[in-house]
Amino acid sequence: LELNLQHASKLEAMGRLTGGIAHDFNNMLSIVIGNLDLVKGALLGNEKAHRRIESAIEGAHRCAELTSRLLAFSRRSPLQPKALNFANFIPGLIKLLERTLGERITISADLEAGLPEVCVDHAQFEAALINLAVNARDAMPGGGTLDIRIRRRDPTGPEGVEDVRFVEITVADSGTGMSPDVLARVFEPFFTTKEAGKGTGLGLSMVYGFVQQSGGTIVVDSTPHQGTRFLVTMPVLAEGSPRSEECAAGATNEPP
Ligand code: ADP
Repeated sequence: LELNLQHASKLEAMGRLTGGIAHDFNNMLSIVIGNLDLVKGALLGNEKAHRRIESAIEGAHRCAELTSRLLAFSRRSPLQPKALNFANFIPGLIKLLERTLGERITISADLEAGLPEVCVDHAQFEAALINLAVNARDAMPGGGTLDIRIRRRDPTGPEGVEDVRFVEITVADSGTGMSPDVLARVFEPFFTTKEAGKGTGLGLSMVYGFVQQSGGTIVVDSTPHQGTRFLVTMPVLAEGSPRSEECAAGATNEPP
């Protein structure tokens, strides 16, 4: 528990700090990009200078991408949970992942029939799964398999005990795996083993924060040279619970 609290307050402080910096930085960056675009237009006759400006613009766009990740990480904006039906949601996600991960990654998805709905922010949930999948891809430079399984998990407590039911989402890869010391730090903000410019170390801490805020859990296990498995649980949308009303209200607020 203490570790969790430490983690939460560290996340909070990091979020505030990065949010402030990212916001200012973003404003300055838009001035840089705007001016570079103008200069680019003026340099049409000069091919060499034109190429240099293009690479400067590309670099600035990458900075902008990073700041938008930082802003997303620090954002305190409330989630917009809505009822989510896995049978409708997963096919689109798989298509998106196929495009994102490339041909060397084989995606296998296994969805239990008749899964109950969960109440979750759809866009953030999708972003979280994409995050896990992109990390998996990075851990499989020579290609491999991404295995997505979705199951219902009923409480295993004694007979008759009322408990929250969960849907379990497993995302497993056949990649490099992690050493125990990396594994222990994966959810830490800014922890990355990727080279500068490739990793921010924010992906999994964002996923962690989102899953917690959604009433779920996330754990990871990993075996070096064999692969990594993330297990996310999301509470089932129970009939008549206050959350179910919140979710139903959310659904009707959606534009047609
Ligand atoms: P980033 O991807 O920017 O490094 P993350 O927070 O998403 O940030 O991940 C932190 C670190 O966790 C990664 O740098 C990597 O070392 C490790 N990691 C995450 N997912 C996996 C995976 N599927 N297989 C192996 N290592 C992983």
